[in-house]
Amino acid sequence: MALSGFASCKGVVWVNTHLIKPLVGESYPVVDYGRGIYLFGKDGKKYIDGSSGAVTANIGHGVKEIYEAMCRQAEKVSFVYRSHFTSEPAEELAEKLAQSAPGDLNAVFFVNSGSEATETALKVAIQYFQEQGQPEKIQILSRRTSYHGITLGSLSMSGHPLRRQRFEPLLEDFPAVAPPYCYQCPFKLSYPSCKMKCADDLEEAILSIGSENIAAFIAEPVIGASGGAITPPDEYYPRVKAICEKYNILFIADEVMTGMGRTGKMFAMDHWDVVPDIIATGKGMSAGYTPMAAAIVSDRIMKVIENGTKVIMSGHTFSANPFSAAVCLAVMDYMDKNNVVQNAQKQGIYLIEKLKKLQEEFEVIGDVRGKGLLCGIELVRDRTAREPFSLNEKITETFISICFENGLIVYPAVAGVTGFSGDAVIIAPPLTITSEEIDELAGILSSSLKQLT
Ligand code: PLP
Repeated sequence: MALSGFASCKGVVWVNTHLIKPLVGESYPVVDYGRGIYLFGKDGKKYIDGSSGAVTANIGHGVKEIYEAMCRQAEKVSFVYRSHFTSEPAEELAEKLAQSAPGDLNAVFFVNSGSEATETALKVAIQYFQEQGQPEKIQILSRRTSYHGITLGSLSMSGHPLRRQRFEPLLEDFPAVAPPYCYQCPFKLSYPSCKMKCADDLEEAILSIGSENIAAFIAEPVIGASGGAITPPDEYYPRVKAICEKYNILFIADEVMTGMGRTGKMFAMDHWDVVPDIIATGKGMSAGYTPMAAAIVSDRIMKVIENGTKVIMSGHTFSANPFSAAVCLAVMDYMDKNNVVQNAQKQGIYLIEKLKKLQEEFEVIGDVRGKGLLCGIELVRDRTAREPFSLNEKITETFISICFENGLIVYPAVAGVTGFSGDAVIIAPPLTITSEEIDELAGILSSSLKQLT
Protein backbone atom coordinates (compact mmCIF):
# COMPACT_ATOMS: atom_id res chain seq x y z
CA MET A 1 0.00 0.00 0.00
CA ALA A 2 1.35 3.45 -0.85
CA LEU A 3 0.65 6.18 1.63
CA SER A 4 1.29 9.85 1.19
CA GLY A 5 3.82 12.14 2.90
CA PHE A 6 6.50 10.54 4.99
CA ALA A 7 4.54 7.39 5.55
CA SER A 8 5.34 4.10 3.97
CA CYS A 9 4.04 0.70 4.80
CA LYS A 10 7.25 -0.78 6.14
CA GLY A 11 9.90 1.84 6.52
CA VAL A 12 10.95 4.32 9.13
CA VAL A 13 8.65 7.23 8.57
CA TRP A 14 9.53 10.06 10.91
CA VAL A 15 12.30 12.54 10.33
CA ASN A 16 12.63 13.32 14.00
CA THR A 17 12.29 11.73 17.38
CA HIS A 18 8.90 10.27 17.58
CA LEU A 19 8.80 6.79 16.27
CA ILE A 20 5.84 5.03 17.77
CA LYS A 21 7.48 1.77 16.70
CA PRO A 22 8.29 -0.88 17.70
CA LEU A 23 5.30 -1.51 19.95
CA VAL A 24 2.73 -0.83 17.27
CA GLY A 25 4.52 -3.03 14.80
CA GLU A 26 5.92 -2.33 11.38
CA SER A 27 3.61 0.42 10.21
CA TYR A 28 1.33 3.12 11.50
CA PRO A 29 -2.30 2.22 11.98
CA VAL A 30 -4.65 3.64 9.36
CA VAL A 31 -7.06 6.20 10.74
CA ASP A 32 -10.71 5.90 9.84
CA TYR A 33 -12.46 8.83 11.50
CA GLY A 34 -12.43 11.14 14.49
CA ARG A 35 -15.12 12.42 16.85
CA GLY A 36 -14.41 14.89 19.61
CA ILE A 37 -11.31 13.84 21.54
CA TYR A 38 -11.33 10.36 19.98
CA LEU A 39 -9.74 8.90 16.86
CA PHE A 40 -10.75 5.54 15.44
CA GLY A 41 -8.46 3.27 13.43
CA LYS A 42 -9.62 1.24 10.43
CA ASP A 43 -9.18 -1.81 12.66
CA GLY A 44 -11.81 -0.38 15.01
CA LYS A 45 -9.34 0.59 17.75
CA LYS A 46 -10.24 3.73 19.71
CA TYR A 47 -7.64 6.31 20.78
CA ILE A 48 -7.86 9.38 22.98
CA ASP A 49 -6.10 12.17 21.10
CA GLY A 50 -4.33 13.31 24.26
CA SER A 51 -2.02 15.67 22.40
CA SER A 52 -4.47 16.99 19.76
CA GLY A 53 -2.08 15.47 17.22
CA ALA A 54 0.87 17.86 17.38
CA VAL A 55 -1.04 20.19 19.74
CA THR A 56 -3.28 21.22 16.86
CA ALA A 57 -6.79 19.69 16.95
CA ASN A 58 -7.98 22.29 19.46
CA ILE A 59 -11.72 21.78 19.02
CA GLY A 60 -11.59 18.03 18.53
CA HIS A 61 -12.33 15.96 15.46
CA GLY A 62 -15.29 15.74 13.11
CA VAL A 63 -17.02 18.97 14.13
CA LYS A 64 -20.09 19.41 11.93
CA GLU A 65 -20.02 23.23 11.92
CA ILE A 66 -16.54 23.14 10.37
CA TYR A 67 -17.20 20.73 7.55
CA GLU A 68 -20.42 22.57 6.74
CA ALA A 69 -18.44 25.84 6.50
CA MET A 70 -15.93 24.03 4.26
CA CYS A 71 -18.68 22.98 1.87
CA ARG A 72 -20.22 26.48 1.77
CA GLN A 73 -16.89 28.10 0.89
CA ALA A 74 -15.83 25.39 -1.57
CA GLU A 75 -19.07 25.92 -3.44
CA LYS A 76 -18.22 29.64 -3.85
CA VAL A 77 -14.45 29.72 -4.44
CA SER A 78 -11.56 27.87 -2.78
CA PHE A 79 -8.50 29.58 -4.23
CA VAL A 80 -7.55 32.98 -5.55
CA TYR A 81 -4.03 34.29 -5.78
CA ARG A 82 -3.27 36.83 -3.08
CA SER A 83 -1.98 39.51 -5.45
CA HIS A 84 -5.08 39.26 -7.67
CA PHE A 85 -7.87 39.22 -5.12
CA THR A 86 -8.64 39.40 -1.46
CA SER A 87 -11.78 37.68 -0.15
CA GLU A 88 -14.43 38.22 2.50
CA PRO A 89 -13.28 35.26 4.64
CA ALA A 90 -9.62 36.39 4.54
CA GLU A 91 -10.54 39.98 5.44
CA GLU A 92 -12.93 38.88 8.18
CA LEU A 93 -10.39 36.45 9.63
CA ALA A 94 -7.65 39.10 9.65
CA GLU A 95 -10.03 41.46 11.44
CA LYS A 96 -10.96 38.83 13.99
CA LEU A 97 -7.34 37.88 14.68
CA ALA A 98 -6.35 41.53 15.06
CA GLN A 99 -9.18 41.99 17.57
CA SER A 100 -8.07 38.90 19.50
CA ALA A 101 -4.39 39.86 19.54
CA PRO A 102 -3.07 42.21 22.21
CA GLY A 103 -2.07 45.86 21.78
CA ASP A 104 -1.45 47.24 18.31
CA LEU A 105 -0.90 43.88 16.61
CA ASN A 106 -3.21 44.55 13.69
CA ALA A 107 -1.55 43.44 10.45
CA VAL A 108 -2.05 39.77 9.62
CA PHE A 109 0.08 37.86 7.08
CA PHE A 110 -1.34 34.48 6.27
CA VAL A 111 0.94 31.53 5.60
CA ASN A 112 0.46 27.77 5.69
CA SER A 113 2.52 26.45 8.56
CA GLY A 114 4.08 27.48 11.85
CA SER A 115 7.55 27.32 10.29
CA GLU A 116 6.47 29.81 7.63
CA ALA A 117 4.94 32.03 10.30
CA THR A 118 8.15 32.26 12.35
CA GLU A 119 10.24 32.68 9.22
CA THR A 120 7.94 35.49 8.06
CA ALA A 121 8.39 37.09 11.50
CA LEU A 122 12.17 36.85 11.05
CA LYS A 123 11.98 38.54 7.63
CA VAL A 124 9.64 41.27 8.83
CA ALA A 125 11.98 42.04 11.76
CA ILE A 126 14.99 42.32 9.46
CA GLN A 127 13.05 44.39 6.91
CA TYR A 128 11.87 46.75 9.67
CA PHE A 129 15.45 47.72 10.46
CA GLN A 130 16.56 47.78 6.81
CA GLU A 131 13.83 50.33 6.08
CA GLN A 132 15.36 52.51 8.80
CA GLY A 133 18.86 52.31 7.39
CA GLN A 134 20.11 49.62 9.79
CA PRO A 135 20.87 46.66 7.48
CA GLU A 136 23.41 45.21 9.90
CA LYS A 137 20.65 44.33 12.39
CA ILE A 138 20.16 40.79 11.08
CA GLN A 139 20.87 38.43 13.97
CA ILE A 140 17.92 36.71 15.63
CA LEU A 141 18.42 35.69 19.24
CA SER A 142 16.63 32.62 20.51
CA ARG A 143 16.95 30.19 23.41
CA ARG A 144 18.97 27.01 23.67
CA THR A 145 15.86 24.95 24.35
CA SER A 146 13.39 25.99 21.65
CA TYR A 147 11.62 24.93 18.49
CA HIS A 148 10.48 27.44 15.89
CA GLY A 149 10.07 25.25 12.83
CA ILE A 150 11.63 22.89 10.34
CA THR A 151 12.51 25.16 7.38
CA LEU A 152 16.12 26.35 7.28
CA GLY A 153 15.36 29.87 8.55
CA SER A 154 13.10 28.73 11.37
CA LEU A 155 15.43 25.84 12.24
CA SER A 156 18.31 28.32 12.43
CA MET A 157 16.43 29.97 15.30
CA SER A 158 15.70 26.65 17.03
CA GLY A 159 17.60 25.03 19.87
CA HIS A 160 16.58 21.52 18.96
CA PRO A 161 19.79 19.52 18.31
CA LEU A 162 18.03 16.41 17.08
CA ARG A 163 16.23 18.27 14.31
CA ARG A 164 19.24 20.46 13.47
CA GLN A 165 22.13 18.03 13.39
CA ARG A 166 21.89 16.84 9.77
CA PHE A 167 21.59 20.36 8.38
CA GLU A 168 23.98 22.27 10.66
CA PRO A 169 26.20 23.46 7.77
CA LEU A 170 23.21 25.07 6.08
CA LEU A 171 21.89 26.88 9.15
CA GLU A 172 22.53 30.48 10.13
CA ASP A 173 24.77 30.77 13.15
CA PHE A 174 22.25 32.67 15.28
CA PRO A 175 23.16 33.09 18.95
CA ALA A 176 21.06 31.51 21.70
CA VAL A 177 20.57 32.25 25.40
CA ALA A 178 19.55 30.23 28.45
CA PRO A 179 15.92 29.08 28.69
CA PRO A 180 13.80 29.77 31.80
CA TYR A 181 13.90 26.09 32.68
CA CYS A 182 13.57 26.08 36.45
CA TYR A 183 13.35 22.31 36.91
CA GLN A 184 16.76 21.77 35.28
CA CYS A 185 18.15 25.28 35.70
CA PRO A 186 21.04 25.85 33.27
CA PHE A 187 22.79 27.80 36.06
CA LYS A 188 21.96 25.24 38.78
CA LEU A 189 20.12 27.97 40.69
CA SER A 190 16.64 28.09 42.18
CA TYR A 191 13.86 30.57 41.76
CA PRO A 192 13.42 33.20 43.19
CA SER A 193 16.92 33.48 44.66
CA CYS A 194 18.32 33.17 41.10
CA LYS A 195 16.90 36.65 40.45
CA MET A 196 16.06 35.46 36.97
CA LYS A 197 19.58 34.88 35.75
CA CYS A 198 18.12 33.49 32.51
CA ALA A 199 16.69 36.95 31.74
CA ASP A 200 20.06 38.51 32.61
CA ASP A 201 21.62 36.06 30.17
CA LEU A 202 19.61 37.69 27.40
CA GLU A 203 20.91 41.12 28.32
CA GLU A 204 24.49 39.84 28.56
CA ALA A 205 24.23 38.24 25.11
CA ILE A 206 22.90 41.48 23.64
CA LEU A 207 25.78 43.43 25.16
CA SER A 208 28.36 40.98 23.91
CA ILE A 209 26.96 40.69 20.35
CA GLY A 210 26.04 44.36 20.14
CA SER A 211 22.42 45.47 19.84
CA GLU A 212 23.32 47.12 16.52
CA ASN A 213 23.61 43.58 15.09
CA ILE A 214 20.38 42.10 16.47
CA ALA A 215 16.93 42.44 14.92
CA ALA A 216 14.84 40.33 17.27
CA PHE A 217 14.54 37.91 20.14
CA ILE A 218 12.16 34.99 19.53
CA ALA A 219 10.64 32.84 22.28
CA GLU A 220 7.86 30.31 22.77
CA PRO A 221 5.79 31.59 25.73
CA VAL A 222 5.58 28.01 27.03
CA ILE A 223 8.36 25.88 25.55
CA GLY A 224 6.77 22.99 23.70
CA ALA A 225 8.41 20.44 21.42
CA SER A 226 11.93 20.81 22.80
CA GLY A 227 11.04 21.00 26.48
CA GLY A 228 7.57 19.68 27.31
CA ALA A 229 5.51 22.68 28.47
CA ILE A 230 8.30 24.54 30.25
CA THR A 231 6.58 27.53 31.85
CA PRO A 232 8.64 30.44 33.19
CA PRO A 233 8.01 32.34 36.41
CA ASP A 234 5.59 35.26 35.99
CA GLU A 235 8.24 37.95 36.07
CA TYR A 236 10.25 36.49 33.16
CA TYR A 237 8.42 37.89 30.11
CA PRO A 238 7.89 41.42 31.44
CA ARG A 239 11.68 41.48 32.09
CA VAL A 240 12.45 40.09 28.64
CA LYS A 241 10.20 42.64 26.93
CA ALA A 242 11.80 45.49 28.88
CA ILE A 243 15.28 44.30 27.87
CA CYS A 244 14.25 44.11 24.20
CA GLU A 245 12.82 47.64 24.36
CA LYS A 246 15.91 48.98 26.11
CA TYR A 247 18.14 47.78 23.25
CA ASN A 248 15.74 48.42 20.33
CA ILE A 249 15.29 44.72 19.57
CA LEU A 250 11.93 43.34 18.45
CA PHE A 251 10.26 40.69 20.56
CA ILE A 252 8.70 37.85 18.56
CA ALA A 253 6.34 35.59 20.50
CA ASP A 254 6.17 32.21 18.80
CA GLU A 255 2.60 31.30 19.72
CA VAL A 256 2.32 28.58 17.08
CA MET A 257 1.68 26.03 19.83
CA THR A 258 0.45 28.28 22.64
CA GLY A 259 -1.88 30.58 20.68
CA MET A 260 -5.60 30.34 19.96
CA GLY A 261 -6.70 29.45 23.46
CA ARG A 262 -4.34 26.55 24.17
CA THR A 263 -3.08 27.94 27.49
CA GLY A 264 -6.46 29.23 28.70
CA LYS A 265 -6.07 32.71 27.18
CA MET A 266 -6.34 33.57 23.50
CA PHE A 267 -2.58 34.16 23.36
CA ALA A 268 -0.25 32.96 26.11
CA MET A 269 1.42 36.37 26.34
CA ASP A 270 -1.93 37.64 27.73
CA HIS A 271 -1.10 35.79 30.97
CA TRP A 272 1.70 38.27 31.56
CA ASP A 273 0.16 41.35 29.91
CA VAL A 274 3.10 41.51 27.55
CA VAL A 275 2.52 42.85 24.04
CA PRO A 276 5.05 41.38 21.60
CA ASP A 277 6.03 43.19 18.38
CA ILE A 278 5.14 40.16 16.26
CA ILE A 279 3.14 37.03 17.07
CA ALA A 280 3.55 33.86 15.02
CA THR A 281 0.53 31.60 15.24
CA GLY A 282 -0.63 28.39 13.51
CA LYS A 283 -1.74 24.92 14.62
CA GLY A 284 -4.93 25.73 16.63
CA MET A 285 -5.80 28.56 14.23
CA SER A 286 -7.44 26.02 11.95
CA ALA A 287 -7.59 23.38 14.69
CA GLY A 288 -6.12 21.03 12.10
CA TYR A 289 -8.98 21.31 9.63
CA THR A 290 -6.73 22.91 6.99
CA PRO A 291 -3.10 24.09 6.84
CA MET A 292 -3.09 27.72 7.99
CA ALA A 293 -0.86 30.00 10.06
CA ALA A 294 -0.09 33.69 10.36
CA ALA A 295 2.37 36.33 11.46
CA ILE A 296 0.57 39.16 13.25
CA VAL A 297 2.58 42.38 13.11
CA SER A 298 2.31 45.61 15.11
CA ASP A 299 1.19 48.94 13.66
CA ARG A 300 4.53 50.40 14.73
CA ILE A 301 6.38 48.02 12.40
CA MET A 302 3.87 48.38 9.60
CA LYS A 303 4.09 52.16 9.67
CA VAL A 304 7.83 51.94 8.97
CA ILE A 305 7.30 49.42 6.15
CA GLU A 306 4.45 51.46 4.65
CA ASN A 307 6.69 54.52 4.62
CA GLY A 308 9.42 52.47 2.92
CA THR A 309 9.14 49.53 0.50
CA LYS A 310 5.39 49.31 1.26
CA VAL A 311 5.22 45.52 0.92
CA ILE A 312 6.35 42.70 3.15
CA MET A 313 8.95 40.83 1.12
CA SER A 314 7.45 37.39 1.66
CA GLY A 315 4.41 35.34 0.67
CA HIS A 316 3.33 31.93 -0.55
CA THR A 317 1.04 30.67 -3.31
CA PHE A 318 -1.61 29.51 -0.87
CA SER A 319 -1.37 32.48 1.50
CA ALA A 320 -4.81 33.79 2.49
CA ASN A 321 -6.73 31.38 0.29
CA PRO A 322 -10.47 31.86 0.93
CA PHE A 323 -11.14 28.21 1.70
CA SER A 324 -8.65 28.02 4.58
CA ALA A 325 -9.71 31.44 5.83
CA ALA A 326 -13.36 30.31 5.96
CA VAL A 327 -12.35 27.19 7.87
CA CYS A 328 -10.41 29.23 10.45
CA LEU A 329 -13.31 31.64 10.81
CA ALA A 330 -15.66 28.73 11.48
CA VAL A 331 -13.19 27.42 14.09
CA MET A 332 -13.05 30.81 15.81
CA ASP A 333 -16.86 31.10 15.75
CA TYR A 334 -17.15 27.63 17.24
CA MET A 335 -14.68 28.59 19.96
CA ASP A 336 -16.67 31.73 20.82
CA LYS A 337 -20.04 29.96 20.89
CA ASN A 338 -18.78 27.08 23.02
CA ASN A 339 -16.54 29.04 25.45
CA VAL A 340 -13.62 26.90 24.40
CA VAL A 341 -10.89 29.16 25.83
CA GLN A 342 -12.63 29.27 29.21
CA ASN A 343 -12.94 25.48 29.14
CA ALA A 344 -9.20 25.19 28.43
CA GLN A 345 -8.47 27.26 31.52
CA LYS A 346 -10.84 25.28 33.74
CA GLN A 347 -9.92 21.82 32.49
CA GLY A 348 -6.22 22.73 32.50
CA ILE A 349 -6.39 23.17 36.26
CA TYR A 350 -8.11 19.80 36.59
CA LEU A 351 -5.60 18.04 34.32
CA ILE A 352 -2.65 19.42 36.31
CA GLU A 353 -4.32 18.14 39.53
CA LYS A 354 -4.62 14.68 38.00
CA LEU A 355 -0.99 14.74 36.80
CA LYS A 356 0.20 15.79 40.26
CA LYS A 357 -1.67 12.83 41.73
CA LEU A 358 0.15 10.56 39.30
CA GLN A 359 3.43 12.21 40.31
CA GLU A 360 2.75 11.24 43.95
CA GLU A 361 2.29 7.64 42.85
CA PHE A 362 5.07 7.29 40.27
CA GLU A 363 8.68 8.21 41.15
CA VAL A 364 9.54 8.40 37.46
CA ILE A 365 7.62 11.68 37.12
CA GLY A 366 10.08 14.36 38.13
CA ASP A 367 8.09 17.42 37.18
CA VAL A 368 4.53 18.35 36.28
CA ARG A 369 4.05 21.70 34.56
CA GLY A 370 2.12 23.71 32.05
CA LYS A 371 -0.51 26.33 31.43
CA GLY A 372 -4.12 25.71 30.47
CA LEU A 373 -4.27 22.56 28.40
CA LEU A 374 -0.60 22.61 27.42
CA CYS A 375 0.80 20.33 30.09
CA GLY A 376 3.95 18.30 30.42
CA ILE A 377 5.52 15.64 32.59
CA GLU A 378 9.28 15.21 32.78
CA LEU A 379 10.52 11.66 33.29
CA VAL A 380 13.62 11.20 35.43
CA ARG A 381 15.73 8.29 36.65
CA ASP A 382 16.10 9.76 40.13
CA ARG A 383 13.57 12.24 41.40
CA THR A 384 15.59 13.44 44.39
CA ALA A 385 18.64 14.23 42.28
CA ARG A 386 16.53 15.27 39.27
CA GLU A 387 18.74 12.94 37.31
CA PRO A 388 17.63 12.45 33.71
CA PHE A 389 17.68 9.20 31.80
CA SER A 390 20.33 8.87 29.13
CA LEU A 391 19.22 9.47 25.56
CA ASN A 392 20.08 5.89 24.63
CA GLU A 393 17.46 4.60 27.03
CA LYS A 394 14.76 6.18 24.82
CA ILE A 395 12.43 6.40 27.80
CA THR A 396 10.06 8.91 26.19
CA GLU A 397 9.81 6.86 23.02
CA THR A 398 9.05 3.75 25.05
CA PHE A 399 6.47 5.55 27.17
CA ILE A 400 4.58 7.11 24.27
CA SER A 401 4.57 3.73 22.55
CA ILE A 402 3.04 2.08 25.61
CA CYS A 403 0.42 4.83 25.80
CA PHE A 404 -0.35 4.40 22.09
CA GLU A 405 -0.81 0.66 22.55
CA ASN A 406 -3.18 1.45 25.41
CA GLY A 407 -5.20 3.85 23.25
CA LEU A 408 -3.77 7.19 24.32
CA ILE A 409 -1.81 9.56 22.07
CA VAL A 410 0.71 11.83 23.82
CA TYR A 411 3.47 13.94 22.30
CA PRO A 412 7.22 13.58 22.88
CA ALA A 413 9.41 16.54 23.73
CA VAL A 414 12.95 15.31 23.46
CA ALA A 415 15.42 17.83 22.11
CA GLY A 416 18.31 15.43 22.25
CA VAL A 417 20.48 16.92 24.97
CA THR A 418 20.51 14.66 27.98
CA GLY A 419 20.85 16.53 31.23
CA PHE A 420 19.50 19.72 29.76
CA SER A 421 16.17 19.09 28.15
CA GLY A 422 15.66 15.54 29.20
CA ASP A 423 12.67 13.35 28.59
CA ALA A 424 9.34 15.07 28.62
CA VAL A 425 5.90 14.21 27.35
CA ILE A 426 3.29 16.75 26.33
CA ILE A 427 -0.31 16.15 27.31
CA ALA A 428 -2.49 18.60 25.43
CA PRO A 429 -5.93 17.24 24.58
CA PRO A 430 -8.52 19.17 22.57
CA LEU A 431 -9.67 22.28 24.43
CA THR A 432 -13.23 20.94 24.38
CA ILE A 433 -12.38 18.04 26.71
CA THR A 434 -14.67 17.32 29.69
CA SER A 435 -13.65 16.35 33.24
CA GLU A 436 -14.92 12.80 32.67
CA GLU A 437 -12.75 12.52 29.57
CA ILE A 438 -9.73 13.79 31.56
CA ASP A 439 -10.43 11.04 34.12
CA GLU A 440 -10.36 8.50 31.29
CA LEU A 441 -7.11 9.99 29.92
CA ALA A 442 -5.47 9.95 33.36
CA GLY A 443 -6.57 6.33 33.86
CA ILE A 444 -4.69 5.24 30.72
CA LEU A 445 -1.67 7.35 31.72
CA SER A 446 -1.67 5.59 35.08
CA SER A 447 -1.79 2.09 33.62
CA SER A 448 0.90 3.04 31.07
CA LEU A 449 3.16 4.35 33.85
CA LYS A 450 2.68 1.05 35.69
CA GLN A 451 3.85 -0.78 32.58
CA LEU A 452 6.87 1.53 32.22
CA THR A 453 8.12 1.23 35.80
N1 PLP B 1 6.80 27.00 16.41
C1 PLP B 1 6.40 26.21 17.42
C2 PLP B 1 6.39 26.77 18.81
C3 PLP B 1 6.01 24.90 17.19
O1 PLP B 1 5.64 24.12 18.22
C4 PLP B 1 6.02 24.42 15.87
C5 PLP B 1 5.62 23.02 15.59
O2 PLP B 1 5.60 22.17 16.42
C6 PLP B 1 6.43 25.26 14.84
C7 PLP B 1 6.80 26.56 15.14
C8 PLP B 1 6.44 24.78 13.41
O3 PLP B 1 5.14 24.64 12.95
P1 PLP B 1 4.82 23.72 11.69
O4 PLP B 1 5.12 22.32 12.07
O5 PLP B 1 3.36 23.98 11.43
O6 PLP B 1 5.68 24.20 10.58
